[in-house]
Amino acid sequence: MIKFLDIQEINQQYSDDLKKVASEVIDSGWYILGKKVQKFENSLASYIKVDHVIGVANGLDALRLILRGYIEMGVMKEGDEIIVPANTYIASILSITENKLVPVLVEPEQHSNNLDLNKIEDVIGPRTKAIMVVHLFGCVCWSEELGRIAQKNNLKIIEDNAQAVGASWKGTKTGALGDAAGFSFYPGKNLGALGDAGAVATKDESLAETVRAMANYGSHRKYENIYKGINSRLDEIQAAFLAVKLKYLDFENEYRRGVVKQYLEQIENPHIVLPSSPQDDQEHVWHLFVIQTQKRDYLQHYLEKRGIQTLVHYPIPPHKQLAFREWNHLNFPVTEKMHETNLSLPLGPTLDNSEVSKIINCLNEFSI
Ligand SMILES: *Cc1c(COP(=O)(O)O)cnc(C)c1O
Repeated sequence: MIKFLDIQEINQQYSDDLKKVASEVIDSGWYILGKKVQKFENSLASYIKVDHVIGVANGLDALRLILRGYIEMGVMKEGDEIIVPANTYIASILSITENKLVPVLVEPEQHSNNLDLNKIEDVIGPRTKAIMVVHLFGCVCWSEELGRIAQKNNLKIIEDNAQAVGASWKGTKTGALGDAAGFSFYPGKNLGALGDAGAVATKDESLAETVRAMANYGSHRKYENIYKGINSRLDEIQAAFLAVKLKYLDFENEYRRGVVKQYLEQIENPHIVLPSSPQDDQEHVWHLFVIQTQKRDYLQHYLEKRGIQTLVHYPIPPHKQLAFREWNHLNFPVTEKMHETNLSLPLGPTLDNSEVSKIINCLNEFSI
């Protein structure tokens, strides 16, 4: 079976180093927010080239803490609107609703899967305070025009960088393009911890201080609480694992790009639509390689019979989820079509050449 993503094999490569740092943490007697967290925050900050990185418990918390920070700072208040792509993973949207802010869903472009930047200005109103761009599937969502629109309308740009750590636009890394960014280090992400972990990155010092306090019970100093904060701290052991794996991130992302190059050049089948190739200014990291086909379930079954595991990202769009019953009547045709036609092929830093060839051959031989 060709696995969709072999997390065990990925971590096996680094197992000596991972075990070594795990023992250091065990022996240190210090398990949350210590030297390992600080070291990882500094390494990620210099990798992304951003002034402040705050390690938190997971990617959802990273995003909700950014918004909560802006609320505490008086930049946003209950009922304000945040523009967000309709086809994102539900976490982006939950980070908004949890803060009693209002998500304004915008359709993606069909082939890039990313927010259609031309549709943003139509939905900006007096209560719009931010655009949450999601670099979905590891593909950069950015343009100069987006920066201009945000500036003109005095909007913050928050990047959901959960799927795109290491990507860049004109040489600037995602996570350093906007005002603040949330990262996820869920085990299956391009930079995966061995458990849950996340981070906030920002160049805004007062946001950084607010988020840091907010994630630790609203406290700057022990037992002094200036906000009604939450507990979203990063474990030393996860930070230590992440510091090990960060060193290999560029290599792994480059490997993914190599696989994707073959997929893009060699998959040829009239039933299959491939995602758009990166433009010159974009360096994607391809968290997922998502094809579109009218025969999705049939193709998935066909590949499974041939020993190829695929997944669907995502089967149900957020506005059709029971969790958001109040939006179930809304129509986002591009998004809805995507959720019916998307199929994610195996992709990862341990997928070998013979596996890639087999996947390509099976796809090219597929007919109805
Ligand atoms: C994974 C993910 C998140 C949330 O990250 P967790 O660490 O699972 O909380 C947020 N947004 C997107 C786009 C994601 O893929």
